[in-house]
Amino acid sequence: MATAADKKSTDEIVTLHQLGAEQAHLIDPKKIGSRVKVDEKRILNCRADVNQLMPIKYQWAWQNYIDSCANHWMPTEVPMARDIEVWKSKDLLSDSERHIILRNLGFFATAESLVANNIVLAIYKHVTNPECRQYLLRQAFEEAIHTHTFHYVVESLGLNEGEIFNMYQEIPSVNKKDAFVLEHTKTLNNKDFATDTDENMQIFLEDLIAFYIIMEGIFFYSGFAMMLSFKRRNLMTGVAEQFEYILRDESKHMGFGVDLINQIKIENPRLWTRELKERVVQNIRVAVELESEYARDCLPNGILGMKSELFEQYVRHIADRRCERIGLEKIFGDENPFPWMSEVVDLRKEKNFFETRVTEYQTGGALSWD
Ligand code: FE
Ligand code: MN
Repeated sequence: MATAADKKSTDEIVTLHQLGAEQAHLIDPKKIGSRVKVDEKRILNCRADVNQLMPIKYQWAWQNYIDSCANHWMPTEVPMARDIEVWKSKDLLSDSERHIILRNLGFFATAESLVANNIVLAIYKHVTNPECRQYLLRQAFEEAIHTHTFHYVVESLGLNEGEIFNMYQEIPSVNKKDAFVLEHTKTLNNKDFATDTDENMQIFLEDLIAFYIIMEGIFFYSGFAMMLSFKRRNLMTGVAEQFEYILRDESKHMGFGVDLINQIKIENPRLWTRELKERVVQNIRVAVELESEYARDCLPNGILGMKSELFEQYVRHIADRRCERIGLEKIFGDENPFPWMSEVVDLRKEKNFFETRVTEYQTGGALSWD
């Protein structure tokens, strides 16, 4: 029932539209206060109100959001007792194996944070669509959960936090990967950046490709394969299970990124020029080189059944698959040397990830606020 407060005169109604449109150039005075029509929605430079989720235009974005919420997990739900025993033992892990584990913890500990910051500070503002923003908000929280994972692992195993969290500044093979993706997020360093020209929209596409395809789609995957190989040998199963959860989240992130990139191309076909494609292919080639260098640094001697050459082949195979998803030809043509990895990725939906979930939760009565 309408109350007196609802009956504001037109000149009392505040236009809320601007709250979502940070870029002044996007505000169309004729649209202010009008209802959003679905075909006005666009990924970039949308002039319709970004606060109105419905009507939804991009079902894939909403579906990714729903699916990601259904996958919710927390690192602290994974028991670490067995890992602590293995890590503290004298003979269950070789020095080479410890080196691989530490390198991967170090890379991921800050990579997750770089991705989160890129979403919040460089991507979110320019994606002018509420259903995509809904997903980005969810993804940003997942990246926080991933960073939390490395805090939890460092604490559980009693690792040197300074060593783990500074690896991206101190270990060249890690530093080069991070420096490379940051180089392709120029929007992060320029507060005046706007997607108001074709050239800038192309720069923005390159940023999306750097993070969703290269960082989350290529730079994460040799680490996933290395860490999951420990689980296959019944070693560090808690940490490996955390990596399985992260892998499940990351394959969603990349799936959303692929949809986002392809939708921007559909809406702005003039952006996807031969020059841009060549630039992207060149970036992917450099990324594969850097990832191969990382694999060699992680596995200078190889471990049981895992030589760095196999990881280099795996990275080339993965890079080809990423290229195809954004409409580029494959570059390398390598077979997958780790077919078990695609089983892990493909089975991620069917597997009961929560079989080890703790059943006793802290109750309200047990919390204290002093
Ligand atoms: Fe992540
Ligand atoms: Mn991610």
